[in-house]
Amino acid sequence: MEKIVSLCKRRGFIFPSSEIYGGLASAWDYGPLGAELKRNVKSAWWSTVVHQRDDMVGLDASILMHPRTWEASGHVSSFSDPFVQCPSCQRHFRLDKVWDEIESSPWVVSLREAMSVDADSSYLLHWARTEGKKLAPNLSLVKEPEVTLSWIADSLSAFGQHKVNFKDFLSRLAARQSGIAQTPCPQCGAILPEEGVAANLMLKTFLGPVEQTAEKVYLRPETAQGIFVNFKSVLDATHRRLPFGIAQIGKAFRNEVTTKNFIFRMREFEQMEIEYFTTKQDAEDCHRRWIEDRLNWYLNMGVRKENLRVRPHAKDELAHYAAACTDIEYNFPFGWSELEGIANRTDYDLKQHAKFSGQDLQYQDLTTGAKFYPYVIEPSGGVDRATLAFLVDAYHEEIVKDRTRVVLRFSKELAPVKAAVLPLLKKNDGIVTLAKRIKNDLQKEFACVYDDTAAIGKLYRRQDEVGTFYCVTVDVESLEDGQVTVRDRDTMAQERISVDRLKEYLREKLAL
Ligand code: ATP
Repeated sequence: MEKIVSLCKRRGFIFPSSEIYGGLASAWDYGPLGAELKRNVKSAWWSTVVHQRDDMVGLDASILMHPRTWEASGHVSSFSDPFVQCPSCQRHFRLDKVWDEIESSPWVVSLREAMSVDADSSYLLHWARTEGKKLAPNLSLVKEPEVTLSWIADSLSAFGQHKVNFKDFLSRLAARQSGIAQTPCPQCGAILPEEGVAANLMLKTFLGPVEQTAEKVYLRPETAQGIFVNFKSVLDATHRRLPFGIAQIGKAFRNEVTTKNFIFRMREFEQMEIEYFTTKQDAEDCHRRWIEDRLNWYLNMGVRKENLRVRPHAKDELAHYAAACTDIEYNFPFGWSELEGIANRTDYDLKQHAKFSGQDLQYQDLTTGAKFYPYVIEPSGGVDRATLAFLVDAYHEEIVKDRTRVVLRFSKELAPVKAAVLPLLKKNDGIVTLAKRIKNDLQKEFACVYDDTAAIGKLYRRQDEVGTFYCVTVDVESLEDGQVTVRDRDTMAQERISVDRLKEYLREKLAL
């Protein structure tokens, strides 16, 4: 992950937001290449789910909506992630994610290493006095090692024989009294409260110039509700019949308790959401088809199969109105995590909006005349999470001629730059003129760059590192034979192609 973050900053994919002022937690800006990549992600999605289907239309609703929307959707009353605050270091942690954070915290990683070498009490005492003191100063084991160790002696010997679960073991290291397991703070090791506090995740703002009298509105926490409130208008305007869906891409805002893992969890992010309206009878089948379609989309975008999995939610994970939900997960460097959720939301949303607005939002079957609320299948993904998965999946390191070559193997659709035009000699006017002419011609069809700021070997490496599909090199011979060298990013094979045929060649190869 560190390599990806550093590459993104160095090469202009993603920067920390307002960095000159020290940055803002959880906010990131997309640089020149990142902006291209993200646009490609969105247009590939739009093309697949809107343009290439007969049963979908698009929408672009506003971020600010009538406040009643969020009462109807349930966000005002229950959109919260209970969190705990550490009494010592004051950090906040999401209650349902706190053990994930503990498991990956620096002090637990260090302790795990120490325990794998030797699991006896003298070794633990040594760890507590050295690494533990630095990494988890408030852990009971660190503050009172003799006391803690005296009553966990039994579990320690069992730990050596792998009978003790590591989570139980950590809970005991955090405890002050024998036998009472506690949750340690991932940051400093102090005992965390057992009960969480619920805080609404919606960001608020004021409409109107005078704050005291202005209307309080929310920055939408999801794009979905914009689709539901427009259901009737879309139906009337397009004369669609069931089943059909509405797709939307747009910003969403959540006051997340903890934000980490780069662009995986942000407070301002973009969603790509579909609400697909169907009958109750067809909903289950339709849900299955969407799971398949969405999984295939990630595969078609070049993501390796072994890094994707689908995870159906257990009954107790489901929202009270949902009949089913399945997540598509990606194997991020920090573990398997949700990329997209595909839910069967039943007819809950339209019914709620009908109730709160007093409008009739039912659908009428023209043959039977029957009126009813359609069921809704919702594939809901994040643009930023998808972009992160594409970056991680594309990242490759290989040794070529004793040197490490970093290459982003983006798919053709996603690569921010399709071709780089490189003059072999930047002081040769003939070469430069021809190279610029070629770039000028290609850029009408492909995203291209021109670069003459280094020697050719270095220029190739730079383009590999950002995933440019083809490098087109203009040399002295090009001036005589009208041919250029085209180098393939993945195979590094080079071919001489006539300048007249170059556009057609790239068109075929990139099949855009
Ligand atoms: P999580 O459990 O990770 O908080 P969620 O289940 O609350 O996610 P949904 O409400 O289902 O997420 O949102 C749909 C999609 O929007 C997610 O699959 C994810 O891709 C994206 N998303 C949600 N929250 C964030 C965020 N804070 N930052 C970036 N993307 C997000």
